[in-house]
Amino acid sequence: MPKLISVAAAVFTLAAGLMAQPPAEPAAEPLVLVNANLVNVRDGRITTNATIAIRNGRIESIGSGPSTVLGAGAPAGARVLDLKGKYVLPGLIDAHTHAADFASFRRALESGVTTVRSAGVSGYADVGFHELVKAGAVAGPDVVTAGYHVRPRIAEEAFLSDPSYADLMSGVTTIAKLRRAVQMNLAHGVNWIKILATERAGTADTDPRKQVYTEEEIRAIVQEAATRNVPVEAHAHGDEGAMAAVKAGVRSIEHGTYLSDATLALMKERGAYLDPTYTTVIDITEPGGDYDVPALRIRGEHLLPRLRDTVVRARTLGVKIVTGTDTGYGPNSLTRIAQEMTHFVEMGFTPLQAIQSATVVNAEMLRLEKSIGVVETGYDADLIAVEQNPLQNITTTQDPLLVISNGRIGIDRLNFAR
Ligand SMILES: [Zn+2]
Repeated sequence: MPKLISVAAAVFTLAAGLMAQPPAEPAAEPLVLVNANLVNVRDGRITTNATIAIRNGRIESIGSGPSTVLGAGAPAGARVLDLKGKYVLPGLIDAHTHAADFASFRRALESGVTTVRSAGVSGYADVGFHELVKAGAVAGPDVVTAGYHVRPRIAEEAFLSDPSYADLMSGVTTIAKLRRAVQMNLAHGVNWIKILATERAGTADTDPRKQVYTEEEIRAIVQEAATRNVPVEAHAHGDEGAMAAVKAGVRSIEHGTYLSDATLALMKERGAYLDPTYTTVIDITEPGGDYDVPALRIRGEHLLPRLRDTVVRARTLGVKIVTGTDTGYGPNSLTRIAQEMTHFVEMGFTPLQAIQSATVVNAEMLRLEKSIGVVETGYDADLIAVEQNPLQNITTTQDPLLVISNGRIGIDRLNFAR
């Protein structure tokens, strides 16, 4: 039966594609949100009865008190949304995704994510989506791009885009080839370079503790990326590979399962960020989801407590921690940023700290702290509304009722009454 349904769905999708245009994206009309409880994620203060005016993708003004509701400040012709006391937060940031198609980016947006950082995809799909958002063709999420993951074996699809780099197909194992792999990505205008500093956890035949590149090799990558002012994100589970990456100057460590106190202390000193992608390791330990492999399930059971211990120590040592999912937001994905925040709270973060990991701190890591991460006048109009006070109940963020990205309504589930 499921097969029949999926065939029918595919036929329907195909027919719809042939016969009708996709639904038009909502226009960026002026919006005024009234009766909001606006959460200041810098200090946890809440402005009650807030009025937020949005125009041309930006937050034009913020007022408070009943007198400003529908007052002179409301732009003419603006659509008014009554939030009836719902709580407004900045749009969430996912610092580690492999989303690579419209449906997946859409799932990210519907989960409250208004900015993602790519951690490597095929066909420069991240660059393409980034351009479409910038052109106003889709509401979002905004994509901070990385192109192809730089590793000893680059995904071979890369060479369909860049056959002139065919020499890298035999392996990216010398300094000269590492620089070329970075250049290949930079030529596509990527915002970050993603590298493999240790082996992967999500494949059964690799040991995630094993170091892949030396400090000298990673330094060459960091220097090459810096020629375009591009920072580096390093996949690293094992401590030796992570230490080499931090010493070489990467801006973020992805995963970080086996990090020692020495590596965490150096991260703190150098201002490197930890993106633990904790929720995806939970997915590894459970049936279904992105990972559904028995051998990985066994591995996940010992990975998970190690990663948990690292996150707790990192927080105690003052390392800046950000939220990332490590999912492609495919139809089977169980991993979302709001779940990651909830797990952070279970590990001892205050709800405000968990929210900061998904907003202001994450924006700072992305060097976008002047345009996203807070709901303030002049910032991008990227915001969500949730039912309850997230500072008291973080799980309320798992069910956003309103998502606005670049001033456009992504989802609106504020009103259910007929
Ligand atoms: Zn990943």
